[in-house]
Parts: sequence; C-alpha cells; structure tokens
Amino acid sequence: MFESEKREIIETGKKLDRYGLISLSGGNISTRLSTGEILITPSGMIYEDMMESDVVVMDIDGRIIEGNRRPSVDNEPIRYIFQNKPEVNAVIHTHQPYATGIGLVIDEIPCNLTTLANSTRGSVKVAPYSSAADIEMGIQSVKYLDNKLAVVLKHHGVVTVGENLNQALYAAVYLEEACKTIVAAKSYSGEKEMAMLDDSQVETAIEIFKNYGQK
Ligand SMILES: [Zn+2]
Repeated sequence: MFESEKREIIETGKKLDRYGLISLSGGNISTRLSTGEILITPSGMIYEDMMESDVVVMDIDGRIIEGNRRPSVDNEPIRYIFQNKPEVNAVIHTHQPYATGIGLVIDEIPCNLTTLANSTRGSVKVAPYSSAADIEMGIQSVKYLDNKLAVVLKHHGVVTVGENLNQALYAAVYLEEACKTIVAAKSYSGEKEMAMLDDSQVETAIEIFKNYGQK
C-alpha cells in the first residue's frame, strides 16, 4: 500500500543527507495521509538503503497497519505532533548541525533572510532539552513551534512540519542555510550587530512566497 507516498519519503531522506541535515541513519520522516494513516521511516536504517517496504504504516495511536520494520523510536512524540496539529501532514526530524549548534547558545534563531521567512514563517524558537523517543519531545515541539514550521530541540536537532513533505523539507533546508549565514556574519562582524528583517519585511516575504514556483 501507498508505494508512491513511501517513495517520496525515501527520496526526501536522501535529500536530507545531500543537504547535510543528517548523518547515516539519523532523524526521521513521517507523513499523514488523507485517509489518516501515518507513514514513518524505520528505526536505524540509512535512507540510501531504504526500500518502500521498510517504511512503516501506523495508525495515529501507534498500531502498526503494515510493515515488518520497527518504526522510528521517535514515533510516539511524532504522533503527538500530528494529533495536536491537525493542519500538519508531514514531520521531518533532523540533526542539522548549524541550527542545532546555534540552539546551544540562544533561545530563538532570528529571522535574517527572506528564505527563512518564506520557509519557516520567521524566527525559530529553541525548545528546552527533552529526551529522544520521549513523549516530551512531541510536547515541547508543539509548544515551541507555535504557528511556525520549525523548532530547534536543544542538544538534539530540529523538527520541521508542513502541510506536505516539500514544505517541511524547505523549512529544514532553509533554516540550515540561514544558520550558516549567521555563523558567517558572526565570524566577520567583530563588534557590529547582525542585521535582521523587521516584522513587516518578514510578513511581506511570507506573502510573496505564496506565489513562488510552479502552480
Ligand atoms: Zn533525533
């Protein structure tokens, strides 16, 4: 069942690797189908080696509908996100180093680029530490996501969400890009302050992005 949706998850996993957002079998990807099932990557498998049959189909309460693999250990906190954010149909969890690293220093990643405004809807909060696989990871993600599409999990990584997988992928990739520019700016700035977008510039960027790409 759901072969094309499973293929999309695996292809997205390879992109996480390509853009430097995960290493080896780190992170996970999940989607919610219009019929309610949750598709989630298996525990501890490298995306490059993953087949459609490795992707696990579950219901929202964690009962396995299809698949012989153990689902991601984070499946409970991720199902919590789906349960509490009905508009979300895709969740990506990464260990992207720049966003996670900056999250060790500050509590909110400021919005310095139009691409960050477009993809996450502005600045990105850092949630306090919670253990991987623990329901608290889901509770903190929902709380600190607020109405944005990304949250940094302190000492752990990043969770991004979207109406679809592409939206969650854009949030993860462009958050990392923005964090790299913060590192570049900080390394170059000396005593100077880094320039930020103001709220109205962020709003404009979000509006413009609604017409981006091929419809
Ligand atoms: Zn993780």
